[in-house]
Amino acid sequence: MYQRILLPIDLAQDSSWTKAAPVAVALAESSSAELHVMTVIPDMGMSIVGSYMPKEAEAQAIEDAKVRLKAFLDENAPDNLVVKGHVAKGTVYQEIIKAAEALGCDLIVIASHRPELQDYLLGPNAARVVRHATQSVHVVRN
Ligand code: ADP
Repeated sequence: MYQRILLPIDLAQDSSWTKAAPVAVALAESSSAELHVMTVIPDMGMSIVGSYMPKEAEAQAIEDAKVRLKAFLDENAPDNLVVKGHVAKGTVYQEIIKAAEALGCDLIVIASHRPELQDYLLGPNAARVVRHATQSVHVVRN
């Protein structure tokens, strides 16, 4: 049914993948689809805090994310699937949408929000992805 599935995860938030990753894997297995796992380093360049961040710190954050994403995939990616990792930097929801387009994904699997924030049903990034993505979006409720 699907050819390429995008699973965006926040490496600092287990809840962004504990429920969503098994769903993405099951959907990829049943469709023989590629699974693309991405994480975004939020761009602080325009903010007051960001203007004090040295460029090297940003580059280091990207390198750290690559290492952590690789460790995540080594531990969690099943051998029977083609799984690829991607690190992006920028505005989270925009980078997710851009990656889905650039990689030719036809499904995005995304966790709804952090479970401790029960007041809303969809987090800010999940909501924007649902609203703006041209692909189907499978929201996994936390
Ligand atoms: P919350 O504020 O409750 O975490 P979000 O909308 O930010 O809500 O998060 C929902 C989902 O958005 C996460 O489960 C994850 O799939 C995606 N997401 C959030 N932050 C990132 C990030 N830095 N990189 C990749 N995906 C992210």
